[in-house]
Amino acid sequence: MAVQRKFPFMAGDRSPRAALAGGLRRDSAWSHVPLSIARAFLEMVYPPTCTLCGGALVDPGAIEMCDACIDAVRGKCRHWCRRCGMPMEPMRLGEPTCNRCLKQKLPFAEVVVLGRYEGAMREAVIAGKKFIHEPLMMALGGLLGEQIASRMDSIPEIVTFVPSHWRRRLGRGTVPAATLAKQVGRVLGRPVHAATRCVRGTTKQGKLVADQRAANILNAFALRRRYHPNGHSYLLIDDVMTTGSTMCEVTRVLLAAGATRVCVAATARGVGKN
Ligand SMILES: [Zn+2]
Ligand SMILES: [Zn+2]
Repeated sequence: MAVQRKFPFMAGDRSPRAALAGGLRRDSAWSHVPLSIARAFLEMVYPPTCTLCGGALVDPGAIEMCDACIDAVRGKCRHWCRRCGMPMEPMRLGEPTCNRCLKQKLPFAEVVVLGRYEGAMREAVIAGKKFIHEPLMMALGGLLGEQIASRMDSIPEIVTFVPSHWRRRLGRGTVPAATLAKQVGRVLGRPVHAATRCVRGTTKQGKLVADQRAANILNAFALRRRYHPNGHSYLLIDDVMTTGSTMCEVTRVLLAAGATRVCVAATARGVGKN
């Protein structure tokens, strides 16, 4: 069911439930209580709710989002090009790649996308970037992990993410791509490494036209000091993939440093002017 609506109430907050989902700190007052008991107690005090619409979750699983909201963020498109992540043209359904990317040189091996960057998905991604709504980004990460598990033939060994510049990290208090990567790693049973860093500030890609985006992020990323990706394959995560230039740039950094193969995944694919 495609739900076209605004979400005036975003249920995600930094509640004890969110703290539990993110892992208890060693110095937490709860740290000596077994996780299963702590979880059962918290579910009594804070009944699980959908992180997007705030409605009660009848049958709460690992992903705190109701079925209607999951349908709404995924949208109607179920067929994406495995090479560039764009929606497949109707005449090529059933084929692995689309027509548009045939002549493009793309450094990554495969792309997985959860939904289009529009409607409920756009609202969820924008809200989930805020520190207070981090549980919403965690739910999107869980959904993305499930999508990767069902679509990707060979899951890479290590999950990593597109880094944010320290100024943006400071302003937001969270790194959305890292939150997603942590959940993807949990679903896929893969370690998550902060492999790269952003070495200079960039203009937000969404504010630029396609031609300016590649120049904006050229040489903006580098490997983290003392990090060696030699001989490993990587799954690179970001929240939104529009032209793909950011994903290309970080992929090149990893490949140049010795990664054997890089696949990419994003919760949302910008396919229009977004
Ligand atoms: Zn919901
Ligand atoms: Zn394509």
